[in-house]
Amino acid sequence: IADKPLLRFITCGSVDDGKSTLIGRMLYDAGLAPDDLLEALEKDSKKHGTQGDDLDFALLVDGLAAEREQGITIDVAYRYFATEKRKFIVADTPGHEQYTRNMATGASTAELAVLLVDARKGILAQTQRHSVIVSMLGVRHVVVAVNKMDLVGYSEDVFRQIEKDFAEFAKNLRFLSIYVVPLVAKDGDNLVKQSAKMAWHKGPPLLTYLEGVAVEDSSIIAPFRYPVQWVNRPSHDFRGFSGFVCGGNVRPGDIVRILPLGRDTQVARIVTYDGDLDSAVSGQSVTLTLAEEIDISRGDLLCSPVSPAKVGDRLKAKLLWLVREPLTLDKSYLLKIGSKTTPAVVAAVTARIEIESGLAAPLKEEGETLAFNAIGEAELSLDSVVVCDPYLENRETGGFILIDRITNETVAVGMVESAQASERGAT
Ligand code: GDP
Repeated sequence: IADKPLLRFITCGSVDDGKSTLIGRMLYDAGLAPDDLLEALEKDSKKHGTQGDDLDFALLVDGLAAEREQGITIDVAYRYFATEKRKFIVADTPGHEQYTRNMATGASTAELAVLLVDARKGILAQTQRHSVIVSMLGVRHVVVAVNKMDLVGYSEDVFRQIEKDFAEFAKNLRFLSIYVVPLVAKDGDNLVKQSAKMAWHKGPPLLTYLEGVAVEDSSIIAPFRYPVQWVNRPSHDFRGFSGFVCGGNVRPGDIVRILPLGRDTQVARIVTYDGDLDSAVSGQSVTLTLAEEIDISRGDLLCSPVSPAKVGDRLKAKLLWLVREPLTLDKSYLLKIGSKTTPAVVAAVTARIEIESGLAAPLKEEGETLAFNAIGEAELSLDSVVVCDPYLENRETGGFILIDRITNETVAVGMVESAQASERGAT
């Protein structure tokens, strides 16, 4: 039971589609009252033993690494619950004006998205946009929750049409699984129990589906990645580097590469509050000590020398633009990736992503950039090098944000596609 698999998911929908009703009613019907959640988390942490509270706490404090570092702007609530079969973390993304940003932050660590659709309205532009965004953020599994079926007389025809519309629209997105389920969240139909009113639907209720759906945690098999969050130096004879394993695993004796420095060294110990470990895997917060005295600081990355991360000051990336003021080319923004921050300009927007198809399309006019909620492909030029990975290979080291230097507002979420060092950056 200690190793019950974890599923992280996010609910997406327009205001009033029934997101809160769905989660609240599902937990209630399953006998998991919200008050028990924290207690369940505490119990679970104790059960896991060796890592103390660290492990599960790390699971809760989450989202896009750079957004997490930005601290003041993070606005996503993570709720935890567990059934007999599985543990769940739901990213609850409140806010209207800031909804897209919160959704992007929540989706950046989710394996599955529950897309709410009002049965009366069907697949709206909003549903398409949410689908494109979650797909772009690396979510490979979706549930289309067709809610408020009571308001369309529990009609199978209405449901089938929505199912067909979504399949048609989603064929260009990279989803590995799509499950469409008819619901009345308000009454609990098809949440925990099969609905008698919609006997024509043969699939499992939502919770049963979520308990069983197979998702891969690619960060476990990814090459070792360890962004250094702080240098831990309580006394002269101890120097450790604290951080969060966000790819692969590490053992004492492993050779690791320090980037951007480019030097290899050996891991001496994996230190935790409860004693040393034989290994640490993706998802764990630890402190590493190294065999040699090397000057390493916050923002550096320790990684596998066999598959090292990229170092560059020129990025090709996808950008999701989050604010009303459109992107200005050649304006100096702050780019924040993990715990590293550097001034950066967007040199060019090379394509935009069409919401209707999810495909890249040329820009319509000369000088067009990205407007509110638009997604595009861009080239960025940074004042100094950063260490990163293509987002689709590692969501932690490949995700970044752009911040307006005057308002301190997060103006875009970015996903690295490739990184290169300019001549200046390489020296
Ligand atoms: P949210 O804004 O997406 O979190 O939506 P809420 O959960 O707050 O629900 C919005 C409204 O829709 C509330 O008045 C709910 O009672 C209602 N609602 C939710 N689910 C259903 C449903 O399945 N059928 C009907 N008729 N109303 C629902």
